[in-house]
Amino acid sequence: MTEPEKLPPGVLNITTRFAPSPTGFLHLGHAFAAWQAFGFAAQNNGRFVLRIEDTDHTRCRPEFETAILEDLHWLGLTWEEPVRRQSDHLAVYKSYIDHLTELGLTYPCFCSRKEILEASAAANLPIGPDGPLYPGTCRKLTPREIHRHQADGRSHVLRLDLTEALKKVPPSLTFDEVGSDGSLPKGPTPVDATSAGDIVLARKGSTTSYHASVVVDDHLQGITDVVRGRDLYSATHIHRLLQELWGFEAPRYHHHDLLLDSDGRKLSKRDQDHAIRAMKKAGKTPADLKEMIEENLAAQNRG
Ligand code: GLU
Repeated sequence: MTEPEKLPPGVLNITTRFAPSPTGFLHLGHAFAAWQAFGFAAQNNGRFVLRIEDTDHTRCRPEFETAILEDLHWLGLTWEEPVRRQSDHLAVYKSYIDHLTELGLTYPCFCSRKEILEASAAANLPIGPDGPLYPGTCRKLTPREIHRHQADGRSHVLRLDLTEALKKVPPSLTFDEVGSDGSLPKGPTPVDATSAGDIVLARKGSTTSYHASVVVDDHLQGITDVVRGRDLYSATHIHRLLQELWGFEAPRYHHHDLLLDSDGRKLSKRDQDHAIRAMKKAGKTPADLKEMIEENLAAQNRG
């Protein structure tokens, strides 16, 4: 398997993390991602932490969390205890989001998914990394209108006002991409948060969203190197913006290749054949999984 990169001597105190969401069983692609992050820490004498990203209470289940821990142990990974579980820290994420609200950088949005789809299509907006770009319907609601929606019992998400947020950060903002994926530009990469639009900071019924909690936790856990799949590359632009708004130091980013299925699509938790536990049950060993990963990557290179 591709050897994780070794940083030059002098780069010290490396901390990486693996941050799965317990919305299903881990598959071969997760094994690859976990080994990449773990291997990078090991190569560089660093720390490795595990974080359970379970803030989406509609999709996360405790039995998947148990399975994740079992599967990662079986792969040979070890990590520092205690494991950080995001649902135990919702008040922390809320306090950081409250800070953005105090700066006038958030607004409540009462739109349903259907309303967003329709308004986004009508305005001919492109599809962003989180789905159809938000057309800004609720951006200029008056306090009176907000009050009326609330009185009608409509729930809301909290969105980042991107236009206002961009006024608070230097236009030359960059993040450092040092990953192994040859298709991505390396080095300081200009941040373009506009492709994601007014992202959701707090979901309906939750005090946070993926973007908010991942950025807060990478900071609080002292993550120096984020090693993850290139499917999250576009999210990095918004993460770097949030880091700047909160005054956090930015980690280095290492985006790696994704494993693909026979149709050329990224592996999914719905595809049970690639689930680590299914392969374990079928008698495969972690070494077999490493070979399958090599083969998957090699097949992609053969094109
Ligand atoms: N929780 C995310 C996932 O399972 C990963 C987040 C990250 O690595 O930044 O896809």
